[in-house]
Amino acid sequence: MVLGFGILGSSATPFARSSSEAKASWCRLIGPDNSKISNRNIRAAAAAPHSRAMRFLGFVSRSPFVANPKRLRFPTSSASMASLPSAANFVTLSRPRLRGVVFDMDGTLTVPVIDFPAMYRAVLGEEEYLAVKTKNPSGIDILHHIETWRADKQQKAYEVIAEFERLGLDRLQIMPGALELCSFLDEKKIRRGLITRNVKEAVDLFHTRFGLKFLPALSREFRPYKPDPAPLLSICSAWGILPSEVIMIGDSLKDDVACGKRAGAFACLLDETGRYNSPEYANVELKPDFTVSSLAQINSLLEENFDLSP
Ligand SMILES: [Mg+2]
Repeated sequence: MVLGFGILGSSATPFARSSSEAKASWCRLIGPDNSKISNRNIRAAAAAPHSRAMRFLGFVSRSPFVANPKRLRFPTSSASMASLPSAANFVTLSRPRLRGVVFDMDGTLTVPVIDFPAMYRAVLGEEEYLAVKTKNPSGIDILHHIETWRADKQQKAYEVIAEFERLGLDRLQIMPGALELCSFLDEKKIRRGLITRNVKEAVDLFHTRFGLKFLPALSREFRPYKPDPAPLLSICSAWGILPSEVIMIGDSLKDDVACGKRAGAFACLLDETGRYNSPEYANVELKPDFTVSSLAQINSLLEENFDLSP
């Protein structure tokens, strides 16, 4: 077991990570030759996160006992263990380096204005909505759900979704703490990216209305979208940095946290109301590394848990 630290509300909360999670986390610290990363490899890796493609990208190692020496120091083999002083036979951990932050948009950088339950009801109808909700306690993936519908029914569903999103754009507001957090990241020269399941038009409006620029900013037109890790892996490739040097911040456990963890990045859940404290989320497979109730908590979270040096 490895002891990590989560942030719940304003207080740090230790949590235990399983040995398999710890092993996966250590494996991700391997440094690849970033020049080898291609979109084809990203898609192959996203399709099979523990595949040869993932190892080729350097995101997963064959062995947990190979590490970036900047962060971890421990023996790489029994032979080397024998030749090392006893003190060096212990694993020493330092704060992981952070070089990029990827944000969700709706409900994270902007105040939630889309009534998602109402949208799901309008698309699915009350009866199907309740049935789908029961089967998906961590949240409904409406875009994936309608992908298998016949074309005319699917088109109608997209129109309903687009109408809810258009109404949301009219009431778009920046999330408290977002501007300050972006200034902090700029000061530290940490890259800012964005992944949303909303459309490009909404991202463009967000950029112009609030004078903020996130690059890359991937919208619904990028396939496959969250919770698939492909958009996050694509951003890491564009930046030329490892997923293990990136944190994904978002208000959705099923989309943002899942995307971040599947890509091999850190994940921070923005849970303003504490809704994810509900028992129905207790057994979800992919858990965030951190949880905050406000973006204003993230500056100190990053300073305390990461090496932010350029
Ligand atoms: Mg969101």
